[in-house]
Amino acid sequence: MSRVKKNNLIWLTVFSWLLVLWANASNSTEKYSNNIKPLFMALDNSLPDYVGFDCWHGYEDILDNLRDAQNGVPPEKDKVKIAECLMNSAKTEYPPLIFATSVFSDESINAVTRGIEIVSSRLGNYGPYHVYLVGNNEEKGFVVDVEEIAKIYCNSADKYTEEPFENCFENAMNDFPNFGCCGAAHNPSHGIGQNIRYQSAVFSEDNRSTKEGRSIITSAHEYIHVYQNGFFLWGNDIAAEQAGLTEEYSHGPVWLEEGFAEGLAQKFTYQDGYNNHYKDFLNEALDAAIKVNRIHKFTLRDIATRQDQANVRSICEECQGWLQYETAAIALAVLESQIGNENFIDSFKSYYGNVPIVGWESAFEVSFGMSMNEFYEMIDIFMEKPKKEQRKIIHKLL
Ligand SMILES: [Zn+2]
Repeated sequence: MSRVKKNNLIWLTVFSWLLVLWANASNSTEKYSNNIKPLFMALDNSLPDYVGFDCWHGYEDILDNLRDAQNGVPPEKDKVKIAECLMNSAKTEYPPLIFATSVFSDESINAVTRGIEIVSSRLGNYGPYHVYLVGNNEEKGFVVDVEEIAKIYCNSADKYTEEPFENCFENAMNDFPNFGCCGAAHNPSHGIGQNIRYQSAVFSEDNRSTKEGRSIITSAHEYIHVYQNGFFLWGNDIAAEQAGLTEEYSHGPVWLEEGFAEGLAQKFTYQDGYNNHYKDFLNEALDAAIKVNRIHKFTLRDIATRQDQANVRSICEECQGWLQYETAAIALAVLESQIGNENFIDSFKSYYGNVPIVGWESAFEVSFGMSMNEFYEMIDIFMEKPKKEQRKIIHKLL
């Protein structure tokens, strides 16, 4: 074999290997390659200087008034124009940042990363968004680096929101070491008065949640809340809440917000091959929905407001969860099986885009083609069917 030929052979071998490596790499990342990839950050990292979107120019007076009033309703003048700007300002080109204590494995951090990518590839990149993986006190050694993670959490709050560091730090140092297993909590984005629509979530999961396949779903669930919060623009309507009503320009009842978040997180992770338990999830949710409906006679109508939630809890502690998560997910699964998967996602996006402009009840009707009452009645009819038939309906989602 001549020298030249030998060299050619070596290059051919190297080239084939590169081709194999490239093919493998592109197979695993292709689906999310157009996304902004979340970044894992050290706890002592400095914080980015985010630049936001200015929706105030020319609207200073209107927005100042809205902020001061905080009564949760849009302005009369240029409502659509201002709403569109604020909705846009909830999107970002900045990558989501993940902060974790040293107890978390690479596998856990990757699961949280992938959960965000699964959702952002479908709904877009919202934020800036920070995730704090804190852990829980279920076993000794699960809560470490509390001060370090509380510091970066509160430095971020101080830098990007109106909450001062001291206040945040005192609360975090009390709360973080006492987290039980397992879940996550999301902090809302603000609307009026902020150029940076910073959002964050705190996770009390641990490495076991990742092994059970749960962390990726939790991360997807929280990121759906990030998306939803991008459409909450006008502040809280305290008066409506005190009167036991659901704010007109809010996301609607909590069960709707949570039903979408959990149902879609389960579905999206299933579609991308990361959730083998989707069918079990639907079956178990159906069992819980049947139990709360037949034994306790509750329906989704019974948890429309915060007062309702408290009322349900006082009668049956577990019922609030069974309604808010399981029954809500089943009700939305019934809706999806009726209108089809693609229409359902389009209607979901249309719903949130309409909430700040026409209010949640009209947004639901415009987007899903039925009023809230018609929806409730459809679920009543579903709940009376034999279980075999119910399963057939929700298994259309598989
Ligand atoms: Zn949630």
